[in-house]
Amino acid sequence: MRIDVVTLFPAFFEAFLAEGVTGRGVQRGLLEVHTWNPRDHARDRHASVDDRPYGGGPGMLMKLQTLRDAIGQARTAAGSRGRTIYLSPQGRRLDQAGVAELASEQHLLLVCGRYEGIDERIVLSEIDEEWSIGDYVLSGGELAAAVMIDAVSRLEPGVLGNEASHQQDSFMDGLLDCPHYTRPEEIDGLRVPPVLLSGDHAAIARWRRQQALGRTWLRRPDLLAGRVLDSQERTLLDE
Ligand code: SAM
Repeated sequence: MRIDVVTLFPAFFEAFLAEGVTGRGVQRGLLEVHTWNPRDHARDRHASVDDRPYGGGPGMLMKLQTLRDAIGQARTAAGSRGRTIYLSPQGRRLDQAGVAELASEQHLLLVCGRYEGIDERIVLSEIDEEWSIGDYVLSGGELAAAVMIDAVSRLEPGVLGNEASHQQDSFMDGLLDCPHYTRPEEIDGLRVPPVLLSGDHAAIARWRRQQALGRTWLRRPDLLAGRVLDSQERTLLDE
């Protein structure tokens, strides 16, 4: 998968793309991320990328020309237009279903805003969709783009060490994940649930399912709304 990111702060992505799961995706050639800086397209002697909003008011806006040129440069280098997304608090809220939808794309082009945002004519002429990572306002789209890239790259086949590991993650089957334990078996009087030490795989699977259902019911009942529980799930919740 190829992801192009238009950003005034390309260095922001360097460590993030060198480490951990995203780093492994890049090293394995499964994830290709390129950054494009609107400042490289500034035409005045101050290399300005922002300007005051028409109509007055506080703050500055990212200018149309430098953004449009950076987007064009990314598309030319990629050889495709890419599903073009502006990270914005006003966009579609990112969730695991959205992540799966984006992970099915070959090419994403992410546009990161700064200041008070971007000239609306970029949205009208270049952007396919706006996506938000939550109902709060960040200082820039870079963190939001990083969140999106991380979540999407986890779903790329071959990026995770163990392909099965994301299948049991929260939201993958509409439930929260169950609790997990590792060694030692007991510490400060806190013990690992005996069933996990039993070696009985069917009993362990049943316990995990019950815990996932119970947690979801307690913490995120909204996820169960509209879900038709099968008879085994109903039994597990009743126990
Ligand atoms: N004035 C804008 C508004 O209220 O909609 C907010 C501008 S914000 C200070 C600067 C940039 O951060 C935005 O252009 C956007 O790219 C990014 N941003 C802020 N909050 C975000 C969020 N929740 N999700 C995605 N991007 C966000």
